[in-house]
Formats: sequence, structure tokens, C-alpha cells
Amino acid sequence: MNLELSEEQEAVRRLAEDFVAREVTPHAVAWDRAEEVGRGIVKKLGAVGFLGLTIPEEYGGSGGDHLAYCLVTEELGRGDSSVRGIVSVSLGLVAKTIASWGTEEQKREWLPRLASGEALGCFGLTEPGTGSDAGNLATRAVRDGDAYVVDGSKMFITNGTWADVVLLFARTNDTPGHKGVSAFLVPTDTPGLTRRPVHGKLGLRGQATAELVLEGVRVPAGAMLGPEGKGFAVAMSALAKGRMSVAAGCVGIAQAALDAAVRYAGEREQFGKPIASYQLVQELLSDIAVDVDAARLLTWRVADLIDRGQDFATAASKAKLYASEAAVRAANNALQVFGGYGYIDEYPVGKLVRDARVMTLYEGTSQIQKLIIGRALTGVSAF
Ligand SMILES: Cc1cc2nc3c(=O)[nH]c(=O)nc-3n(C[C@H](O)[C@H](O)[C@H](O)COP(=O)(O)OP(=O)(O)OC[C@H]3O[C@@H](n4cnc5c(N)ncnc54)[C@H](O)[C@@H]3O)c2cc1C
Repeated sequence: MNLELSEEQEAVRRLAEDFVAREVTPHAVAWDRAEEVGRGIVKKLGAVGFLGLTIPEEYGGSGGDHLAYCLVTEELGRGDSSVRGIVSVSLGLVAKTIASWGTEEQKREWLPRLASGEALGCFGLTEPGTGSDAGNLATRAVRDGDAYVVDGSKMFITNGTWADVVLLFARTNDTPGHKGVSAFLVPTDTPGLTRRPVHGKLGLRGQATAELVLEGVRVPAGAMLGPEGKGFAVAMSALAKGRMSVAAGCVGIAQAALDAAVRYAGEREQFGKPIASYQLVQELLSDIAVDVDAARLLTWRVADLIDRGQDFATAASKAKLYASEAAVRAANNALQVFGGYGYIDEYPVGKLVRDARVMTLYEGTSQIQKLIIGRALTGVSAF
């Protein structure tokens, strides 16, 4: 694995850094307070090419590699995790999954619009009663002529109130567990689909999170993504790659925590000297720095494996597990460096603590990642 960025990758990284400095960082505190990222950001993310970064050029994307994708998600995560999540879900979980599993017609219908930001995607797996145990989901899709009729509900759906299409997982037969699940591409303006915003989140406050309620939603049979009964495989393939972009976003959080803490430690004086001169403060900074490097290397390894066509699922779980726990630790250590000023939202680290916390919960909790890694080590599945 070559750790030196190519000219193209460095150019993408710089583009993302400039974009974040111009379009994200100046607004992040206001968006967090208002509980809404400015919606115009979606068009801007599309125009700069980030929503189609790894989509093939023939479908309107840039055909970029996965390391470039990591660089962009890291920079976005460094600026505002609410913005990073828009890309990770619409590109990483939805568009990429259509590119992998879709028919030619589905790719032509959705990919150019998703890549340009004209349309936004969301990923509807979690339900009120099933989170970690997603294979036991209860939403049903019953065949009726040339369509399916869907009833059920989905919980905590990122981009949910904004999205134009939901990659929806529903039970199409009575086989228990994940074998009865199929995937569908459902436009969110389909009659019978309602969206309720989820408010009061600890972090990611700017993100449009929603509960989706489906009552008699008619979906054409041609909207099924992948074979009937293979929906869980579709979901797991999406999440394996998704974990890489969450991990990269976590590297961004940890890097932002490090940058802020080093700067503040050099400026703040106590006992007549900058607090950076005290060894116990340096310990906090060095703990963050090691977490940044380790999380980034684990994440880049996943990108390298994907780009070389190798098996990457366990490596993605390791990266997501480590990087998410590292982001929580790093943000918390940075807050300690800031003292009382870290506890008010004029300074950036309190938001980093709140935004980092969900990373150990979604796209598979830390416990679920450990079970996936344990299964790979022992051959014995806990699920
Ligand atoms: C802000 C936010 C955005 C989200 N976005 C999306 C989205 O876009 N799409 C989507 O589909 N979902 C989304 N989710 C849902 C997220 O993926 C779930 O919250 C997550 O999978 C955990 O499910 P749960 O909350 O039901 O917790 P539960 O599954 O009830 O878990 C509760 C606790 O039990 C532990 N646990 C569960 N099973 C086991 C086990 N077998 N062994 C050991 N411990 C176990 C868990 O690790 C956790 O600590 C989002 C959630 C949040 C908070």
C-alpha cells in the first residue's frame, strides 16, 4: 500500500479542504444552533462533484477511487459531521449500492440525478423495533399484480426529510429473519409515505433525520433493487462500504479536535505559562495525535483493499470500530484541554464531542463491529 497521495488525490483533498473552509466551517455553529444545515449545501456538494465522486463517469459521476472518497469525507467531517453524513448516505449508501446492484434502467434513472445533487438519497433499514437486529425488520411489501404494497415504518433515517428517493428494505415473504427481506427504490413523494422530523438529537443537529411511515405505498415491481429475498445482502454490502466513510468522517473529527486543542494550548496561559508547556496537557495532545494517525491508517487500508478488488468487510469493521471510539476519545480530550471554554458552543470542541458520540452507534454499534470481527476470527457467528 502506497501511503503517498497521487497528484489527483492531493488535488481532490485540497478541493475538499477549500470547499469546507468556504462553504461549511463559517456556518457550522449557526447550523448546529438552528438544527438545520442550509439546504443549498446539497446543490453545492453536487456541483463540486462530491455526491458522485465514486460513481462511474458514464452515469454522471467522477469515477474517483475510494482513497479520494476517504479524503473528501475526512475533510467534510473535519468541518461539520452533519454535512459529511449527507454525502456518506446519498453517495455511499444509496448511489453506490444502485451502481453495484441496479439494472441498467435503475442506474440511468437515479445515478445522474444523485451524482449532481438534483436528487438526494436516504437509506431506510432501521425500524422502531429493530436496530442491530435489522434482519428481523417488520415492514412488509405484499405483491399485488405488477406492484408491491408496502406498510411499516423506519426510524432515524438520515437525509429523511430532504431525500427524493429511499432505498427501502421490506419483508416480501414469510421466511423468518433476513432471508425474507428485499430492497426497493421508492420515490419519497409516493402516496402513503409520510416523513416526520426527529428533533432533539444530542449531535448531528443540522442533519435532516426522520421517521418514515408507509401506509399502503404502491411500488412498481421494477423498483426492486437486486433479486427478491436478497435485500439483506444488498443492505450489508452497502453498510460494509459505508463503514469506511463513517471511519473517514471520524478521522476528520479527531483531526479537528487535535487542531483546535494544539492551537488553544499554545494561546491559553495559566500559572504564567502557555498550558502547552505542561506535560499533562502534552499527554492529552499526544493521545489525540496517535488516535488520528491510527484511525487514518486503518481507514486508508480499507480504501486500498476496495480499490484493489480485495475482501474488505472485516477491515471496514475494524476501521469503523477504532475510528469511532477514537473520535469520541479525541473530542473528549480536546474538551479537557479547553477547560471550561470547551463547554460552551462559541468554541468548536463541544460540538465535536456531541457529533462524535453517534459514530459508535450507527452503521453497526461498536458491539456489533466486535461481533463481526469475532466471527471472522473464529468462524462462529453470534447472530
Ligand atoms: C443520528 C442517527 C442517524 C441514523 N441514520 C440511519 C439511517 O440513515 N438509516 C438507517 O437505517 N438507520 C439509521 N440510524 C439507526 C442506527 O443504525 C441504529 O440506531 C443502530 O443500528 C443501533 O440500533 P438501535 O438504536 O435500535 O439500538 P439496539 O440495537 O437496540 O442496541 C442497543 C444496545 O444493545 C447492544 N446490542 C444489541 N444487540 C447486541 C448483541 N447481539 N450483542 C451485544 N450487544 C448488542 C447495542 O450495541 C447497543 O449498545 C441512525 C441512528 C442515529 C442515532
